[in-house]
Amino acid sequence: MAHLVTLIPGDGIGPEVTEGARRVLEATGVELEWAVERAGAETLEREGSTLPDRVLERIRRSRVALKGPITTPVGTGFRSVNVALRHELDLFAAVRPARSLPGVPTRHPSVDLVVIRENTEDLYAGIEFERERPETVELRRHLAALGHGVREDAGLTLKPISVSGTRRIVRFAFAFAREAGRRRITLGHKANIMRYSDGLFLEIALEEARAHRDVALEAMQIDQLSMRLTHDPETFDVLLLPNLYGDILSDLCAGLVGGLGLAPGANLGWEYAVFEPVHGSAPDIAGKGLANPIAMIRSGAMLLRHVGEAAAAEVVEAAVDDVLRAAEVRTRDLGGTATTEEVTRAVVEALGRR
Ligand code: NAD
Repeated sequence: MAHLVTLIPGDGIGPEVTEGARRVLEATGVELEWAVERAGAETLEREGSTLPDRVLERIRRSRVALKGPITTPVGTGFRSVNVALRHELDLFAAVRPARSLPGVPTRHPSVDLVVIRENTEDLYAGIEFERERPETVELRRHLAALGHGVREDAGLTLKPISVSGTRRIVRFAFAFAREAGRRRITLGHKANIMRYSDGLFLEIALEEARAHRDVALEAMQIDQLSMRLTHDPETFDVLLLPNLYGDILSDLCAGLVGGLGLAPGANLGWEYAVFEPVHGSAPDIAGKGLANPIAMIRSGAMLLRHVGEAAAAEVVEAAVDDVLRAAEVRTRDLGGTATTEEVTRAVVEALGRR
């Protein structure tokens, strides 16, 4: 039976790279039935919503989605579609592998780590108070009564981190490490400053670690971890991070192994899974055929593995490695001159030779 997959082309370079990924996945011979759904800037104009309900309904039906990036206008008060999607479908874990790839120039040729980012809490929970709004004034009054002075002209973003939210991502990280044959989890935090949010994350993780002794857990302050990642990233195995640090370090890790054009990702919950690259909609190169489709193709390989098509996933990954190793067809971000279409075709051809 065909696997039903919701395909969200997204904004900017999204339609170009999702089309590339779709062609590569189809070339594996795995039976896939695509349900294409629009979301983002396009549906805002047409339907008045960046994330129409029918998109969520469709994903609930197919359970898996392949998603292109969606633009979030800065400072307009618009809630990010990406954040909303993760909340609505309770996709609490982002999984982002960073592996050095053959033929891709990097100072760190043997990196092989996975970032696991908590996806629903922390400063990205969307609990925001705009400066000078009545509710912000009210909140400031409460805080003042509790002895916390906040400047009159301040905006506020809250950072909730809960025991239950932490416990499930920590358990997920241990299960993931065990299944992937990985031995060590490094947790990033700033518990000395944020005692009741990062401190709680750390406390619950250490508690859980006592019940999962087959995988080691070490804790490291996020600033020290950032420095260590730029020096010796090859010494890390799994990184477990609260939402904001996870977002930032995912991009850093992508940069360590060749850039955003190569970095795949998955957003997972107990019921649904949405696969998307780490990169955004790249408005600077959209519509020009310059985007590297490999991050999206590799996200597609993660989707194949998730739906039980591990052999096909391996073939896709190997075909990508073949194209990168040959170093003949590559997009501008990797120093080449090839178009999105040419890289897609090269991967499909490499797949055919496997
Ligand atoms: P970005 O990832 O879109 O771009 C950063 C840089 O990387 C740009 O120079 C871009 O050209 C380059 N780049 C990204 N992907 C590439 C690819 N596949 N091939 C070649 N080069 C690539 O980050 P940004 O500019 O900060 O964000 C643009 C928009 O995307 C924003 O609205 C942001 O909110 C949104 N965004 C969405 C997601 C998502 O949908 N999950 C994730 C991140 C950012």
